[in-house]
Amino acid sequence: SKGLGIITSSIAYQYAREVWPEASVLKLGFSYPFPDALIREFAQGVDRLLVVEELDPFIEEHVKALGISCQGRDFVPGIMELSVDRLLQSRRLMDGGEATRKEEDPYRELLPPRPPVLCPGCPHRGVFYALSREDVVVTGDIGCYSLGAFPPLDRMDSILCMGAGVSMAHGMEKAGEKRKVVGVVGDSTFFHSGITGLLDIVYNKGHSTIIVLDNRTTAMTGHQDHPGTGRTISGEPTVAVSIEDIGRACGINRVRSIDPYQLDDAREAIKEELAALEPSLIVSRAPCPLRERRRVGAMRTILAEECRACELCLSLGCPAIEGVDGVMKINQTLCAGCGLCEQICPARAIVSREGV
Ligand code: SF4
Ligand code: SF4
Repeated sequence: SKGLGIITSSIAYQYAREVWPEASVLKLGFSYPFPDALIREFAQGVDRLLVVEELDPFIEEHVKALGISCQGRDFVPGIMELSVDRLLQSRRLMDGGEATRKEEDPYRELLPPRPPVLCPGCPHRGVFYALSREDVVVTGDIGCYSLGAFPPLDRMDSILCMGAGVSMAHGMEKAGEKRKVVGVVGDSTFFHSGITGLLDIVYNKGHSTIIVLDNRTTAMTGHQDHPGTGRTISGEPTVAVSIEDIGRACGINRVRSIDPYQLDDAREAIKEELAALEPSLIVSRAPCPLRERRRVGAMRTILAEECRACELCLSLGCPAIEGVDGVMKINQTLCAGCGLCEQICPARAIVSREGV
């Protein structure tokens, strides 16, 4: 018997390997255009063919269109993200069993909890920390900055589609929200679909504050360029469109930029714009350290003799800061040296490693 063959791609590949370790797997490096000859050759080498992919049956339909018999949506769920748990259900169904509601990830007990958080050294952390000190509603949208919605920062009240950070801020204000509404939007998303909402705020005499989290790239989808970076999508030099100029062209009078790593200055600027009775645009500008492939500054460390174990530094949600049995430490392989933790430590226990 030639056994089961699985055609898959991206993250679904990892799950499929765990759930069907005995299967032959064809992992497509990208899902279009299809390597038809390779798919045909692979299909001939297996008895039963399963396509494991998230959401629309894009690969499955193509395989069937080639005249190759396969299964996919018969067993693999078509809504929401896949996981090892969900595919274990698929496996049981394929083997003739019944699906259960019970989650059965065999590794659940062994793995430490690892909540989704912003990267160490992420410039957005400073803005979300500053916003966490204000009694405002924060509307957001889709980007790596969506991670600001999770604890401990917990500073995004809505996430909808791209551009909704701006348009929902305006909508909430017009719907009568008593608190000031702040919209956050990434630089790439701003160019994609934030500008129209900004125009509406000015046109309809709104008062919202919009913060563009400008990390100089389209970080979440793989660091692509965009109209503000000065490079075309294929990397050639081109015009760098100014977010501030667009804000002014929309009719916003209060336009300013901040350095999100300078926490006091950023908080002061945000406070001032929140108090203004007109719309404002803040551009929080610092490049994504992952794209730059370098630390923001010197790595930090915690002086054990100074630390009061108040755990305030944990409220930044930086994965480099660890608290184990009341002892705080900075993981030196993770710290990107942004210095935010040093700025909020009330005991001055966090210092540059270079100064130790
Ligand atoms: S904020 Fe400072 S004093 Fe408080 S736990 Fe962290 S390092 Fe220690
Ligand atoms: S440990 Fe401190 S300096 Fe290092 S990345 Fe985290 S917040 Fe920044």
